[in-house]
Amino acid sequence: METRIRKVNYKNIDLKIIQEAGRILKSGGLVAFPTETVYGLGGDALNPASAEKIYAAKGRPSDNPLIVHIADKADVYRIAEQVPEQAERLMEAFWPGPLTLIFPKKPLVPDKTTGGLPTVAVRMPSDKIAAAFIRAAGGFVAAPSANASGRPSTTTAAHVAEDLSGRIEMILDGGQAVIGLESTIVDVSEERPVILRPGVITKAMMEAVIGPMETDQVLIAPDSDVKPKAPGMKYRHYAPKAELMIVEGETKDVIATMNRLTAEAELQGKRVGIIATDETARCYERGLVKSLGARNCEGEISMHLFEVLRSFDETDVDCIYSESFGGAVIGQAIMNRLLKAAGHRVIKV
Ligand code: AMP
Ligand code: MG
Repeated sequence: METRIRKVNYKNIDLKIIQEAGRILKSGGLVAFPTETVYGLGGDALNPASAEKIYAAKGRPSDNPLIVHIADKADVYRIAEQVPEQAERLMEAFWPGPLTLIFPKKPLVPDKTTGGLPTVAVRMPSDKIAAAFIRAAGGFVAAPSANASGRPSTTTAAHVAEDLSGRIEMILDGGQAVIGLESTIVDVSEERPVILRPGVITKAMMEAVIGPMETDQVLIAPDSDVKPKAPGMKYRHYAPKAELMIVEGETKDVIATMNRLTAEAELQGKRVGIIATDETARCYERGLVKSLGARNCEGEISMHLFEVLRSFDETDVDCIYSESFGGAVIGQAIMNRLLKAAGHRVIKV
């Protein structure tokens, strides 16, 4: 199959292209589309055959449920059996935006879309191209991140093409995704809301609206044997091909350690990649150095994380050392992705 790539301009959204994309979904095909978080791989959420196609295109295990994207708040009541009051307050505060909520599902949502779970994950993106596309596609678009399973999520149309070209009908190209990390996921299907995946909507931001929340045990103790509540969190994720290791500590110690480890690896004939910041990039004497942006600008770091992880796959590096990024607001979300990419390999100095 030939994958059509269509550029769409936010200032003047071409409705002919959006209609074409919508028709593809209604006839059971797949379209990747931009959102404010990362690119999504969209299929008709109410068509079980579309869910199967999504799993096949990504090479994703089919017990890993898909998030259903909507464009109008009222549509949540058509697919969720119950919408608790706390969820309504979160929706009021953060929708449209990078927050996914999990509800008991109505029978209208096929089991294939939810990986057999009795619950459904719902998000209303703020991205204007995404909203127009969702409406044109019938209102309910199942979309995981538009990457091959296990690889870093995609933040540009070119990344999507790299992973999915020839496997899907169309890519809507809206340029670079501005947030760069996937949505925060909160389970509101039980008594007390539980955070299943951290994102740019933080626990503190949500607690200011609804009071105390819990965090899934698996996020707190990643090595525990507890089963994650978001099935996707158990899979290896985001990993570049080279072995990634995080170095954590005072900046000057981190730089010294990364320089030493790089020299040692090079002596063994290895090529080394380094993930740094604008402030530290020039302190690394050897290796292929890439900066995520200014350390005090968490938005820059999150926006470039997947792009930089991905870019190392086009090089011949054998191992990558990365600085750590526990910033004040979204540090938890950034480190959650980086730790997974590194298979939780951390050197503390
Ligand atoms: P992605 O589509 O790549 O952003 O991943 C979606 C994440 O949402 C995965 O980690 C899924 O396991 C999680 N998810 C989707 N639906 C549900 C659900 N009904 N219950 C729990 N987690 C879910
Ligand atoms: Mg994903």
